[in-house]
Amino acid sequence: MKSRTLVMDESGAIERREVELPDLGPNDVLVRVELTGICGSDVHMRDGGLDLDYPVVPGHEFAGIVEAVGDEVTTDSKGDLVSSGDKVTVVPGISCGDCWYCDNLPTRPLACNDRNVYGFRSVEQAPHAHGGMSEYFVIEGGASFYTLPEDVPVELGALVEPLSVASHAVERAFQPGVPHAREGFGIGKSVAVQGAGPIGMLTAATARAAGAGQVIALDMIDERLEMAERFGATDTVNVGEYDGDGFVEAVNELTPSGDGPDVVVEAVGHPSALEQAIEIPRNAGTVVEVGHYAYNGEAAIDPSRLVHKELNVFGSLAYPPVQFETAISLLDMTRDERPYEELFNYRVGFDDAEAAYEKQASGEAYRATIHPGR
Ligand SMILES: [Zn+2]
Ligand SMILES: [Zn+2]
Repeated sequence: MKSRTLVMDESGAIERREVELPDLGPNDVLVRVELTGICGSDVHMRDGGLDLDYPVVPGHEFAGIVEAVGDEVTTDSKGDLVSSGDKVTVVPGISCGDCWYCDNLPTRPLACNDRNVYGFRSVEQAPHAHGGMSEYFVIEGGASFYTLPEDVPVELGALVEPLSVASHAVERAFQPGVPHAREGFGIGKSVAVQGAGPIGMLTAATARAAGAGQVIALDMIDERLEMAERFGATDTVNVGEYDGDGFVEAVNELTPSGDGPDVVVEAVGHPSALEQAIEIPRNAGTVVEVGHYAYNGEAAIDPSRLVHKELNVFGSLAYPPVQFETAISLLDMTRDERPYEELFNYRVGFDDAEAAYEKQASGEAYRATIHPGR
């Protein structure tokens, strides 16, 4: 069968191509894509910031309806029964299962040296339509996918991926073992989130759901800060109202210690934000860097600040596949209190894909979405 897809070449140009899908294998699942979110990393791809095997079918934040399941497929990755008509979302990353990391660090699937990621693969590679910007999508045997609860609309399935990124970032700030009351993240803790884009908003929502006593959202756009409050931020600071690092003091004053939050999550993706992230937390605090999936330049960090503040600094790359379960529960739990649907504020069909990338790149859209059926 054929599928209409969007294919991006190295220059960032988008071609509308029809690809022939192979016959469904016994362990495969065929999905009709409802929508795909355009992420910051998709914009980086368009702008030439990612080293990939082009041309690529982009889209790693997507959801759809099961059209057909292979003969051997009975359940999703959680073990829930799956059949045609179910709402699903797909974990884009597939670890190789074969390298030293996969053998020795099974709890850290992101460490795999040879991950295959939907939305970043060449269209020439079978089954060809392996990004969300495709009318149909084949989930190959070995990939993880999850059905959505009955009362969660299929659209919200496209937020499960970014919510997995955000919730993994928050979980990186938990300390191993039973945390001492003053270590890392925990109930009642103070968390600052740099950047009120979708990842920042979802981080705020996660931190509140996980028991944060305070969530301070930092951004330069008031409208985004107001949105962050609706996602659970208890305080906001517009960093644009201060000279240089002047906002750090304003943040400190808001916190119970007066010396800064317990945890800072960097979700801006600009190197200067990491420089600031080092200054924001209290001594012996925790910094989680999640904003830089793609290279965006170098940060100038004074290593003695890390030593003297005795900071915990963690990188957070994507999430393990089971994080989708966490994200789906979170969505289900908090759906009535957070305006998740409003993040999708620019919706287009295939014909207007370029405009959607533009809206995402300019920051006018929280999450521009492409709907193949439109
Ligand atoms: Zn993404
Ligand atoms: Zn591996």
